[in-house]
Amino acid sequence: MRLASAEINLTALKENLKLTQQLAPNSKVMAVLKANAYGHGLVKIAQHLQDADAFAVARVDEALALRTGGITKPIVLLEGFFDPSDLPILLANNLQTIVHDISQLEAIEQANLDAPLTVWLKIDTGMHRLGVEPEEFEHFYSRLKRSKNVAEQIHLMTHFACADDTKDSKTQEQQTLFDTLVSGNSAPLCLANSAGIIGWPSSHGNWIRPGLMLYGVSPMLDCVGNQHGLQPVMRLTTKVIAIKRVKAHQAVGYGGRWQSEQDTYLAVIGMGYGDGYPRHAKQGTPVVIRNKRYGIVGSVSMDMISVNIGNNLDDIAVGDEVEMWGPHLPVEEIAQCADTIAYELLCNVTPRVSYEYIT
Ligand SMILES: *Cc1c(COP(=O)(O)O)cnc(C)c1O
Repeated sequence: MRLASAEINLTALKENLKLTQQLAPNSKVMAVLKANAYGHGLVKIAQHLQDADAFAVARVDEALALRTGGITKPIVLLEGFFDPSDLPILLANNLQTIVHDISQLEAIEQANLDAPLTVWLKIDTGMHRLGVEPEEFEHFYSRLKRSKNVAEQIHLMTHFACADDTKDSKTQEQQTLFDTLVSGNSAPLCLANSAGIIGWPSSHGNWIRPGLMLYGVSPMLDCVGNQHGLQPVMRLTTKVIAIKRVKAHQAVGYGGRWQSEQDTYLAVIGMGYGDGYPRHAKQGTPVVIRNKRYGIVGSVSMDMISVNIGNNLDDIAVGDEVEMWGPHLPVEEIAQCADTIAYELLCNVTPRVSYEYIT
């Protein structure tokens, strides 16, 4: 038995997909599985999202890993391909590509392919990362339409920069610009990530692209998943490996960054940044032991963290399970304590952690 464990609740995953579909009942679902399904296990998660209409990943390798794992649903490459030599691989593996740059358009036009590719044209409506400029849209669209290497049905998409904040007018501006550009075009439209799905119902379009919410985590500012009815899929745990007595004013851990005002006990737990726990989690970041919250103290080290348990010796013993995040402790809250976002914490869980899939 390994100490650190990520329990992945596949029933919660399916329930989250169901809820997503209920929020956008007229849209097809492209479930986003990039970065090892946000740290949850790429193929396993795909196998348990049978009700999704398609999958999306960020890298060709991720798509190929899904195919090797026996996944046959349509797969969309969110950044498209990176080299003209990828194109035959896309065709051979039935991968659909986003086109966001002139280099991709030219590569498609010049390729010698046995069959046409399915293309999603990405328009930059204000994110200013990937996508063709609004004034270039018509030009790209007509060139794609003319290319024998592009399948008849071209999809149109854009991506929101600030959809997590329902008070920010940027999302409405992006939607309005997109609507103006595509008006009169009968192509399928795709705009919303999780925050768009939850916060901006008018953006749902023909296809939605949920990522984070499928894993039960809120994409909205200062929210946690269960406020939207989502259930956390990952439960990250470890065990107490020692109970240590420290006297008042004895400095604890690397750099001696913390000391207690009075004599106290620490539970030393088998989890650290080597498992993906954030080293910058602040003093007092909660963990849960036997349904009670305690705060971490001192520096997070590679393999261990100290937890101040005061004089609760009757409540805690070596071998007790410790929840780092999960149903009793939202990962959104830990992200705030570490000055980051839940996306990063989930992606950062390392292979040293043992994964267990439950239903
Ligand atoms: C990652 C990603 C998504 C999913 O975003 P969530 O916030 O996790 O729902 C959707 N679309 C694009 C283009 C992405 O890169």
